[in-house]
Amino acid sequence: MSQLPRIPLAGVIGSPIAHSKSPQLHRHWLKTYGILGHYIPMDISTDNLETVLRTLPTMGFVGVNITIPHKEKVMEIADLVTDRAILIGAANTLIFRKDGKIHADNTDGYGFLENLKAGAPQWDPSSGPAAILGAGGAARAVISSLLEAGVPEILLSNRTRVRAEVLQKAFGSRVQVFDWVQAGNMIDDAALLVNTTSLGMIGKPELRVPLDGLRASTVVTDLVYAPLKTRMLATAEDAGCVTVDGLGMLLHQAVPAFERWFGRRPEVDRATRAAALR
Ligand code: NAP
Repeated sequence: MSQLPRIPLAGVIGSPIAHSKSPQLHRHWLKTYGILGHYIPMDISTDNLETVLRTLPTMGFVGVNITIPHKEKVMEIADLVTDRAILIGAANTLIFRKDGKIHADNTDGYGFLENLKAGAPQWDPSSGPAAILGAGGAARAVISSLLEAGVPEILLSNRTRVRAEVLQKAFGSRVQVFDWVQAGNMIDDAALLVNTTSLGMIGKPELRVPLDGLRASTVVTDLVYAPLKTRMLATAEDAGCVTVDGLGMLLHQAVPAFERWFGRRPEVDRATRAAALR
């Protein structure tokens, strides 16, 4: 009796999960490349997370994305965790290996950097300091990728200063912490400005950090992608800055996962953006 190959399954686990754009994105790539496979959103509670993760490989799953609130918890469950996920303190991508082991990685920093390179190809990491607003999980991924890329100095400000100081301890002397009320001053000398807070997102308060000191040579990017053009990006555009929206980070962080699961490196192009926005 001939045996047909098993159709690979992947998905995203979070709670809630209905808002996730990942299913549209991965399904677009599966269709574009004619790959037989499925990508499924799964709303799973923390209590059930480990049982679900141990069961999925037996059902034909090759891996899953992990989102809020499970990005830290999966690090305890995984059998192997990459150095970069350890440094960031969170994982967003799991690979279910053939030997039964769960491999955890974090591709957010990769996605951030690839998006920046694509949207601002003239940006040179060594050209000057990067000013970062926010010190949550996303900021960790952004800082680690910028330091690895060769940014000489990170100027970091967060509403809750102690969280920024924790990151300074984790990443060392190239990170300098500023009070939240001083955030407007630290951007004056920055070659790059990144908003990693949730401020400016639909349903959240606006980012009120003064941007008057922004120079036209500063590249400005926002991790918030709903709306696509945040008020920070609009202000930066008016100041003559090159701006990069946050949607591309979401698209690029998905590339290594799709390649590991389905064996094909997908392109991030206009059609990919359109699929994610649908
Ligand atoms: P998080 O760990 O919860 O961190 C939230 C950050 O926002 C903290 O720095 C927090 O400051 C700050 N913040 C929240 N409300 C604030 C307020 N009212 N005033 C000042 N600061 C405030 O979240 P995260 O995972 O880092 O995500 C942050 C944002 O990045 C979210 O909007 C998320 O959607 C976005 N994101 C986008 C991508 C992408 O692919 N584009 C990827 C990851 C994340 P405190 O420490 O003082 O609370």
